[in-house]
Amino acid sequence: MEDSNISDKIREMMAKSVEAKSHAYSPYSHFRVGAALLTDDGQIIEGCNVENASYSLGVCAERCAIFKAVSDGHSNFKAIAVNSDIKDEFTSPCGACRQVIYEFGKDIDVYLVKPDMTYKMVPIKTLLPLGFHGECLNMKKILTD
Ligand SMILES: [Zn+2]
Repeated sequence: MEDSNISDKIREMMAKSVEAKSHAYSPYSHFRVGAALLTDDGQIIEGCNVENASYSLGVCAERCAIFKAVSDGHSNFKAIAVNSDIKDEFTSPCGACRQVIYEFGKDIDVYLVKPDMTYKMVPIKTLLPLGFHGECLNMKKILTD
């Protein structure tokens, strides 16, 4: 699905999500994932999945990209692209990554990108309806002290 309405930056972000996959460290699952994050000021930060022999310590590509970006001083994001080697289906962020994306904006666009660069855009609030957000922490509670 070629869409001439998307910006060059979005196209570049999607291409970088595919490139980022080449850095994936996935010796256990052999499931390579790449992500690329577009900041509000037009920078693109890449991430890949990083596995560990202690399986639960691995981190997904999306969170890798977000944590890299935040540690470099970025916290305003427009969009994120995610890509795996699955040929015929879109790869969507896991639940943990959806929550971390949502933390940085309820309006972030998530581009699911196939290796052939076909894509589908889904807003994060569609992927994570009724998501938990920092505002929840300040809402009125039943107990006070
Ligand atoms: Zn994930």
